[in-house]
Amino acid sequence: MRQGAEFEVIPGIQSIDQEKDSVALTDSRGQVYRGRYLIGADGVHSQVRKITGEFKPTHTAFATEGIVPLEKCQSGSEFTFDYGVVQNGYGWLIPKHDHVNVGLYTCGDSRQICKAGLREYTEKNLGTGTVEHIVGFPIGIGGDAYVPRSSLVFLVGDATGFADPLLGEGIHNAIKSGQAAATALIAAIQSGADANLAYRAAIEDIRQDICNCRKISYLFYNQLSMSYALLKSRHFQSRLLKGFAQGMTMTEIRQAFFSRNFLSVSKTEH
Ligand SMILES: Cc1cc2nc3c(=O)[nH]c(=O)nc-3n(C[C@H](O)[C@H](O)[C@H](O)COP(=O)(O)OP(=O)(O)OC[C@H]3O[C@@H](n4cnc5c(N)ncnc54)[C@H](O)[C@@H]3O)c2cc1C
Repeated sequence: MRQGAEFEVIPGIQSIDQEKDSVALTDSRGQVYRGRYLIGADGVHSQVRKITGEFKPTHTAFATEGIVPLEKCQSGSEFTFDYGVVQNGYGWLIPKHDHVNVGLYTCGDSRQICKAGLREYTEKNLGTGTVEHIVGFPIGIGGDAYVPRSSLVFLVGDATGFADPLLGEGIHNAIKSGQAAATALIAAIQSGADANLAYRAAIEDIRQDICNCRKISYLFYNQLSMSYALLKSRHFQSRLLKGFAQGMTMTEIRQAFFSRNFLSVSKTEH
């Protein structure tokens, strides 16, 4: 905002025209906005993505969550990730000060997740079917297939499927890809280089990480009993939690897991 950015709520996008050195966005009232570049940070249902055809995701993940007031809970709950309660996904129970946040996630068939299913899961785990403020949304995955084509329009976050398919977490990569777009476009303006190439390079590690997460997710959910045994191993748990706490990506955690340092640290810890 200090740099002069302005926020404006518009009713919807009618068209996006990519001209030689600028982009013109016309909203549904006919008002035209013109800029050097356009960044589509408009979520999983991205109009920018649909109108420009910059990326065509093949499918989305889905999550639903709600709140159970503590006084309604018939049984206590611990912080829980519950693998196997839905196919290719998990349920969660996260106790907060006066309520428990409950939810279900899948990167598989979204039809298996619904309000009734969430209530059933809650009934089973907390002894009550009362779940308030239920919300459910698709989550953008599959972004490892996104190769920016335009030199003027760029997609970030869920608009381009940058959420991690294993856990459905997308906030980190939404911020990271937004920063990557800003950095790449500033560099392109300053150097006169092609913004497309700059953005491609800037998101390469995100795409690589999403690709690794997709492979891990496939193995993890298709071999759940083995995956669960691995998750219960003390060494694995400790490296995973330390990695997440340090803000490492799944790719970095995997690399650290197989590095000599990790093996020697594990040996010492043991
Ligand atoms: C139930 C649930 C729980 C989740 N929990 C987690 C979690 O714990 N951790 C995590 O990392 N991720 C979580 N996620 C995923 C996470 O919410 C998304 O991956 C993340 O919000 C994506 O960020 P984004 O900025 O790309 O898109 P969004 O957060 O969807 O933001 C896009 C914004 O663009 C706006 N917009 C759309 N069209 C227009 C338009 N034409 N003009 C102006 N504005 C427009 C929308 O209103 C919206 O505010 C969860 C998702 C769900 C459904």
